[in-house]
Amino acid sequence: MYADVIVDLASDALDHVFTYSVPEGLEIEVGQQVEVPFGPRRVDGFVVGLSDETALDPARVKPISRVRFPEDALPEEMISLADWMREKYNCNLVEALRLMLPSEMRGGRVREKRRRMAKLLLPDAPVRGERQREIVDALKSGDLETASLNPSALSALVKKGVVEIYEQEQRRAPAQLRGAPLPDPELTRRQARAVRELTGALESGGGRFLLHGVTGSGKTEVYIRLVRRALELKKTAIVLVPEIALTPQMVRWFHQRFGADAAVLHSGLSAGERFDEWRRIRSGAARVVVGARSAAFAPVKNLGAIVVDEEHEGSYQSDRRPRYDAREVAQRRAEAAGAVLVLGSATPSVASYMRAMPGVRPENRLTLIELPERVTGRPLPGIEVVDMRREFERGNRSILSARLSEELRLCIDAGRQAMLFINRRGHSSFVSCRKCGYVARCDQCDVSLTYHQSDTALKCHYCGRESPVPTACPKCGSRYIKFFGVGTEQVVEEVARQFPDAKCLRMDLDTTRGKDAHRKILDSFREGEADVLVGTQMIAKGLDFPEVTLVGVVAADMSLNLPDYRSVERTFQLITQMAGRAGRAEHAGKVILQTYEPDHYGIKLAASQDFRAFYLRESAYRKSALYPPFTVIARIVFSSPDEDAAKSASERAAVELAAFLEAGGHMPDVVKFRQRDCPVKRLRGEYRYQVFLKLYFKADVHAITARMQRLADAQSGARAELEVNPANSL
Ligand code: ADP
Ligand code: ZN
Ligand code: ZN
Repeated sequence: MYADVIVDLASDALDHVFTYSVPEGLEIEVGQQVEVPFGPRRVDGFVVGLSDETALDPARVKPISRVRFPEDALPEEMISLADWMREKYNCNLVEALRLMLPSEMRGGRVREKRRRMAKLLLPDAPVRGERQREIVDALKSGDLETASLNPSALSALVKKGVVEIYEQEQRRAPAQLRGAPLPDPELTRRQARAVRELTGALESGGGRFLLHGVTGSGKTEVYIRLVRRALELKKTAIVLVPEIALTPQMVRWFHQRFGADAAVLHSGLSAGERFDEWRRIRSGAARVVVGARSAAFAPVKNLGAIVVDEEHEGSYQSDRRPRYDAREVAQRRAEAAGAVLVLGSATPSVASYMRAMPGVRPENRLTLIELPERVTGRPLPGIEVVDMRREFERGNRSILSARLSEELRLCIDAGRQAMLFINRRGHSSFVSCRKCGYVARCDQCDVSLTYHQSDTALKCHYCGRESPVPTACPKCGSRYIKFFGVGTEQVVEEVARQFPDAKCLRMDLDTTRGKDAHRKILDSFREGEADVLVGTQMIAKGLDFPEVTLVGVVAADMSLNLPDYRSVERTFQLITQMAGRAGRAEHAGKVILQTYEPDHYGIKLAASQDFRAFYLRESAYRKSALYPPFTVIARIVFSSPDEDAAKSASERAAVELAAFLEAGGHMPDVVKFRQRDCPVKRLRGEYRYQVFLKLYFKADVHAITARMQRLADAQSGARAELEVNPANSL
């Protein structure tokens, strides 16, 4: 027997299979991780094929050294998924395969955890001494871990044959996974209809759906029923969420309903926990996987359903090589398995919604399912727009408008809760000199620094560097150095000033560093330990707090004018999601939207909560301005500490790319072709230049990006990375 092996070394030169022989007595399957001799050393690799013969001289074929994790081969379909990724994302096969195992499993760094247990063999044997007596008594009511017992007394007992020691495999179950399953609630009419359509597809060979349900319409319950049906059919399911830390409720719901059948995969797990969860999934002990982006590669077999919740989120796109999109991976897996794909959102991305509109080619088509009403039958909360320019004219210099203060007062007095949202990351508060206009900037990156009051420091949000706050202008020496913009800290301060008796919690990147910090803040708010939760977009997603009746969007337009064609879409999504946190249970909700641009269509349509109107307006704009999804953006970013190196590398690549486009007859499909510096020219100490290409969507995108990948790989002077429709184009 011979095995085709891909070695676990990422290099283009090695991106093909090597043949090894299978020694007598070694059981090998496709998908197995093996150790093989490679030149003078031994490396790990993946078996991607098996055959009875080889064209090579058998005497020169070396044998596989050993199998790692004999029971945990990658399912065979993952090998073909990796093949597909190599094509689609221009990566090496091994780079794709690496995504499919917990990183700890590569190189055999983790093992199952075993614990040593003590068992009482002779309960009535005479023993000497207090400590031996204690052990015998303790073991009478059951076996115990040896670690909890006195070692010398224990070994004396073992020697006498009174106690025996054995090993037991121990599974490191993540903390969230405890508790008994809950019963199913009765579905609303709309939910029942959605479930019927999805399970119908599940039973008849699969399908692709876009579930557009307003906030609070009970999308999760629809997912749960679909997953339940998949399990009844002896199939499995994957549910993707944007970020596990921000969706503790989703994890809890799935666990409450599926018990030990549910597994959770995310980066917050310890290496051992991740390994054990992975093996539980692989062995079929857990058949439902909930996880972030990388859970799209969960090793389930016989997939029945794959759900992508909050499908509009940018976090589904990987920002590292291989730059895969979990939605595309999900679709590919669903198609290969004849499973059901559900993309769900209250604010679908323009690109996905377009695929659910008439006139789409069948291979792109998504079937639209709508949940236009909340489960409770309550209307969506009313949104009141406050023009902050007027507020200023009237002499209110506070970051809270009179209307928002008034509503906060009412809400707090009624004993309900409020959430205040400020998108500080969109437009940071910066420090500048009123006299000469100096702005404090990071000396490693081309961005201004953000003032953080809690530790009186200036921080760079890109590279994390901190510097002290200047008391005088470093440029002109003036003392008129001022902080502009607002952040979560200022909002908390203002709430404290106006409502001294109210308790306020803050949730942003700074308050959520520690392990479990997200969950603690959210739990404490849910328990009613605070009246107001102030936060960044972290608090906008999926959270379900029944006592929240007021939502204040402190500065709705902060993300409106970023230099990105999706800035209006993102603003619309954020406002809708944030508004969706109010009035989800018995009490009606209210939303106050503060803005300097009340007439902007993004703000107006978000305020009227009219998704369809927004979609029509936004897609018309994209079409006329030639933005995705009507075009494809592809760029190579060149970075180097040496500006000339980055610049000239980009110039050389541009020349070659132009020649390729010309020769291949691609020019008519090129909308825009630029070689220039990136919008953020310096990042973490490196200079950045780009070759930027915009193509009509009907262009031969694959051929062109494959060529761009080769150009990027061929660079020696600077680091070069290809990005296709990147989540941000800074
Ligand atoms: P969405 O994700 O669509 O915003 P959720 O899935 O968070 O909505 O559901 C909103 C709330 O309604 C949750 O508290 C959920 O437990 C509850 N819920 C969902 N479906 C039902 C139902 N059929 N009966 C009662 N409560 C439900
Ligand atoms: Zn100055
Ligand atoms: Zn920086």
